[in-house]
Amino acid sequence: MSRIARGLDLPSPFDVAELCRRVSVRRRRQVVLTPLPMAALGPCGLWLAGEHADVICFEQNTSALHQEHIILHELGHILHEHTGAETLQDLFPNLSDATLRIMLARQHDAFSQRHEREAEQFAYAVLARASRGDGFRRVLAD
Ligand SMILES: [Zn+2]
Repeated sequence: MSRIARGLDLPSPFDVAELCRRVSVRRRRQVVLTPLPMAALGPCGLWLAGEHADVICFEQNTSALHQEHIILHELGHILHEHTGAETLQDLFPNLSDATLRIMLARQHDAFSQRHEREAEQFAYAVLARASRGDGFRRVLAD
């Protein structure tokens, strides 16, 4: 399990929005969650690194569990400080670089395979920790 996933202050019961809030406080940089109908765009998750905030867009037309996984995957990219090859400026030359710096698409070529694997392992590691926490609480409650 990655050191980053192990070091997270996970809410209990697990709540991915609350986790993002805690990460925002710790990094002094807001993580904003934005549900969107993404299917038409191709990827089901997207990380937009702005000057002062990280925006995670995720598919709104899917199950809560899938959304949670998408968000954790993107959060993995953010916390591992992966940077993609493409900036928004390359895509939209007229857009101010200060507004949105980097546009990274899930399962696009922007990330190396290693970065994709790292983000995916992060997502699974957090979920594994989250369910262990639940089990532990149940044992204590019994
Ligand atoms: Zn990814």
